[in-house]
Amino acid sequence: MQVKEIKARTILIRSRLPDADYAINPYIGCEFGCLYCYASFMGRFVNEPIANWGNYVYAKTNAPQVLRKELKRLGSAQKESTIFISSVTDPYQGAEAKYKLTRGVLEVLAEDRYPGEVGIQTKSSMVLRDIGVLKQMRNVEVGMTVTTTDDALGRFLEVRATQSSVRFSTLRRLHDEGIRTYAFVGPLLPHFRYKPALLDALFGALSEAKVSYIYVEHINLKGYIRERLFEGLKNEPEEVRNVYKEAREQGHREALDKIVGELIEKHGLHLRTGQVLYHDDYMKAWPKQLD
Ligand code: SF4
Repeated sequence: MQVKEIKARTILIRSRLPDADYAINPYIGCEFGCLYCYASFMGRFVNEPIANWGNYVYAKTNAPQVLRKELKRLGSAQKESTIFISSVTDPYQGAEAKYKLTRGVLEVLAEDRYPGEVGIQTKSSMVLRDIGVLKQMRNVEVGMTVTTTDDALGRFLEVRATQSSVRFSTLRRLHDEGIRTYAFVGPLLPHFRYKPALLDALFGALSEAKVSYIYVEHINLKGYIRERLFEGLKNEPEEVRNVYKEAREQGHREALDKIVGELIEKHGLHLRTGQVLYHDDYMKAWPKQLD
């Protein structure tokens, strides 16, 4: 894995995501290389083609220092803002073992006694390394992205991420340590429409992991994502490829929404936004001047 060191000019970035005012991304690029990743567009900032997503990482080695300065400039009302770590990279990918930039960012927020909610979302069990820092923070929660209970499928789609089964046990361990947790079920894999028992198993595992709530998001199949994903699926059987193709249709989303609603009720889970998210809907709500 190619890791380059860079200096960031800013680290606290206004966010377009629901439930987040700011995002912090200590890295550009992500070695996990998930086939469905929407963040592959980030390559344009470092002259990397979309097809190379997963093969490079740029570490913003001054991220904690820049954040410390930016926090000093925030007024008290702005410090109620929600911060999301991270929106276009995984904060606990392999490079974090060496650079400890996510850890440094959390230490700065802990020292600051930052009062707003800080949400950390990852696919990596490395977050357990920082339990001590997390416990010093005033208002923090940790989310794991989970898309399947099937480790083999997880390895195929989320190439170098922590095994799916380990993510469930990571959530449970965090809960047992007294840290608030949630799960991000996204993308909602299209084949669950025809095999709801698989989603049933996934929600059952989240219920056992004692997450406080879940987000669920439909797959984003914008052109640049589709290109990379379909290249990854090209050797799969035609029926698999067809399920992904039809996932762009509203009828597909409505059929899955119904299944999700029934299974959430069955497992007593709380759906934070009250509905399954769809990227195009919340991007439309983004005010133009912040775009
Ligand atoms: S872990 Fe997240 S940011 Fe990294 S490749 Fe996967 S989806 Fe993209």
